[in-house]
Amino acid sequence: MDTAQDAAIAVRGLVKAYGSHDALRGVDLLVPYGRICALLGPNGAGKTTTVEILEGFRQRDGGAVTVLGTDPAHAGAEHRARVGIVLQSTGVEPYLSVAETLAMYAGFYPHPREVDEVLALVGLTESRDRRVRQLSGGQQRRLDVGVAIVGDPELLFLDEPTTGFDPSARREAWDVIHELRALGRTILLTTHYMDEAENLADQVVVIAGGRIVAEGTADTIGSRNRRAVEVRFSCAASTEPPANLAARRDGHDGWTLRPTDLTRDLHVLTGWAISAGVELENLRIERPTLEDVYLHLTGASADALEEE
Ligand code: ATP
Repeated sequence: MDTAQDAAIAVRGLVKAYGSHDALRGVDLLVPYGRICALLGPNGAGKTTTVEILEGFRQRDGGAVTVLGTDPAHAGAEHRARVGIVLQSTGVEPYLSVAETLAMYAGFYPHPREVDEVLALVGLTESRDRRVRQLSGGQQRRLDVGVAIVGDPELLFLDEPTTGFDPSARREAWDVIHELRALGRTILLTTHYMDEAENLADQVVVIAGGRIVAEGTADTIGSRNRRAVEVRFSCAASTEPPANLAARRDGHDGWTLRPTDLTRDLHVLTGWAISAGVELENLRIERPTLEDVYLHLTGASADALEEE
């Protein structure tokens, strides 16, 4: 079991209110060193509030927080140099070149990375001499990541790192994040994209109504791996699968069944189809997606909050 000592981020009983609104109602979170943690949650769930407290930009009302072993509420410049932050929009100087921008930020840190190394990591080597204002949105975002990692931080906060990216720019950004992890860095990111969490995160955390409602890997969160699978298929509208399979009609010629024993039920189904000369079109086995589980978790949490 990971303990607070092993963790790059350790949060216990974190609470924060804005006036009478309880934005965080007791958040517990451990992110071990070297992991990528994705924080998911609907608008207003408390993601930004949590992350800004961890970054030291916002004061908490209660609870214990350590980031790289330090309480961010009382951290100094030395701690801040160990942490990189990519906000949703950063205001870098538009008339500097890409390389000049990185060199300028490198000057703020005691042990910066080489500018060329950062350019290569974020895929901007070719654009090193271009003015920042001439970059595309995706390139600017990569420069934001470059600015955040030029100080060689041990921990990186990424707030919705690929919002607005085209599909290939997203893949490239994911590659950068994977490379940083391979270098042993810890990353906490917020996202609204389930595929991003699936692709990147070792640890997925769902927050809703100011509380963590589920935590696990993308495969196991919300008992996703244990949730019922469904078998779907279509066959000629005049035919009916064996009654003991308890298949439900799903549209004109579609059927869905919840197998009690997947292997046996598939055997019964395909055996029936072969002997009756029925074509099972689109036969597929479906598990709940991460999005299905997420919607279920956050919907259940919204119902619970309403009851409170
Ligand atoms: P989003 O996905 O929309 O960015 P979020 O999960 O990051 O949402 P937060 O920004 O942390 O959510 O907001 C949590 C709650 O606290 C929301 O109800 C929000 O309206 C409220 N809130 C956030 N910042 C403030 C503030 N400065 N003053 C008052 N209320 C705030």
